[in-house]
Amino acid sequence: MTISLDEALALDAVDPLRKCRARFRLPSGIIYLDGNSLGPLPVATAQQITQTVEHHWGGDLIASWNKHDWIGASQRLGAKLAPLIGARPDEVLVCDSTSVNLFKLLAAALSARPGRSKILSQTGNFPTDLYIAQGLASLAGATLKTVDADAILAALGDDSAVLMLTDIDYRSGARHDMARFTSAAHRAGALAVWDLSHSAGAIAVDLNAAGADLAVGCGYKYLNGGPGAPGYLFVAEALQPALASPLSGWFGHADPFAFDPAYCPAEGIARFQAGTPSIIAMAALEAGLATFDGVSMGAIEAKSRGLSQAFIALVEQRCPGLTLASPRDPSARGSHVVFAHADGYALMQALIARGVIGDFRAPDLIRFGFAPLYNGFADVWRAVDILAEIVETRAWDQPRFRERSRVT
Ligand SMILES: *Cc1c(COP(=O)(O)O)cnc(C)c1O
Repeated sequence: MTISLDEALALDAVDPLRKCRARFRLPSGIIYLDGNSLGPLPVATAQQITQTVEHHWGGDLIASWNKHDWIGASQRLGAKLAPLIGARPDEVLVCDSTSVNLFKLLAAALSARPGRSKILSQTGNFPTDLYIAQGLASLAGATLKTVDADAILAALGDDSAVLMLTDIDYRSGARHDMARFTSAAHRAGALAVWDLSHSAGAIAVDLNAAGADLAVGCGYKYLNGGPGAPGYLFVAEALQPALASPLSGWFGHADPFAFDPAYCPAEGIARFQAGTPSIIAMAALEAGLATFDGVSMGAIEAKSRGLSQAFIALVEQRCPGLTLASPRDPSARGSHVVFAHADGYALMQALIARGVIGDFRAPDLIRFGFAPLYNGFADVWRAVDILAEIVETRAWDQPRFRERSRVT
C-alpha cells in the first residue's frame, strides 16, 4: 500500500520523533538518505568541539585530563551508548576504530578458546571485517572460514573459536537473528562477535537479551559522531575477567600513572583501551550520542520500519526497472533498503544531482538509509517522486553521471 504526499505529511505531523530533526543541521534542498554511511552534523557539535578546544584545551591545558574528565571519556561515552544497544553502562567502551576494536575482540576470543583455530564468518561480510580476521589469523596461526548465510549454523563445529557476524548486512540490509546465532555458537563451544555498525542508532539492538558475548561498531554512521569518529566495543560483564586485549597499551593498564614497566590489565571494560583517545573526536561523538537523548530505541525502530516500508511500496509502484534487493519482511532487515538497477551508479549520481543523497554499492545496488531522528515520511515521498522522474526521463543516461569517484 502506498501513501500520498498528504498522508506522508499527516504521518510526520503525529510522529513522536518529529522534534529530533531540529537537532541536526541539514542543508536545505537536500533529502539525506545516507546516514547509514555518514550521519549529518548535529547542531550541538560545533559548540561542543569549540568548548573542548577553546576552554578545556586552550584554557585548562593538561589539567583538563582530570578537570574535564578526558581520562574517563572512553568509559563515559560507552555508558551513554550502552542503552542504545541493550548493554550495561560498564560493558561498553568508546575507543579506536571499528576495525581496530574488531581485531582486539577477535584476538581476545581466539586466546580464550585454546585448541580451536577457526574464525567463522559470512562470505559477504563487510570487507574490513574479513580483512582484519585474515590478518589476525595469519598472525595467530588461525584460519578464517567464510560460508553463505544459510550455511553458518552447519559450519559451526568443535574447531570453531569464534563466530564473527555483522548484525545488519551493509549491502542488502538483511538482519541476522542475534540470539539464535549466538546460542548456536555457544552450543558449539565458540564465542560470537557482532558488528553493529549498520544497526546501532537505527534499530533496537538488545545485546544482553540476545546473550551476546562481544560486539563492535561504528560512531560515524547512525550515531552521528562525524567523519572518522571513534568506534566502540562491548564485552559482556561475565566475560571481562577472562579476556585480554592483545593491544595491551597503557590506557588499559590497572594503574597507568604508576608507570610500572610490567603490564597488568585493569579490572573490567577499561582493559580494552589501548592508548590515548582523540579527545576532540570524542567531543564530536558525545554530541552525536546526545541526539538520542530522551528517545526510545523502540520508537526509532518502529519509525524505521514505517519509513522503509513506505519507500519500498512507492518505488515498486512508481519506478519500473528497479528490483528490491533487501528482504521484504521489515523484521528481517535493518534501516536501509537497496534496489538493483543495471545502471545503478549513474542513477544514483543523477539522484544526488537532484538533492537526494544515497549511495551506490557495486555491482548494481543503490542504497538508501532511513534515519528515524531526522528523516520523515514526506522525505520518503519526495525522494521517490524525484527518483521516478529520473527513471522515467532517463535523466541518468549522461556521461557526467558515469564518471566514477574514489568514494561511491
Ligand atoms: C562502516 C563499517 C565498518 C567501518 O570500519 P572502520 O574501522 O570505521 O573503517 C566496519 N564494519 C562494518 C560492518 C561497517 O559497516
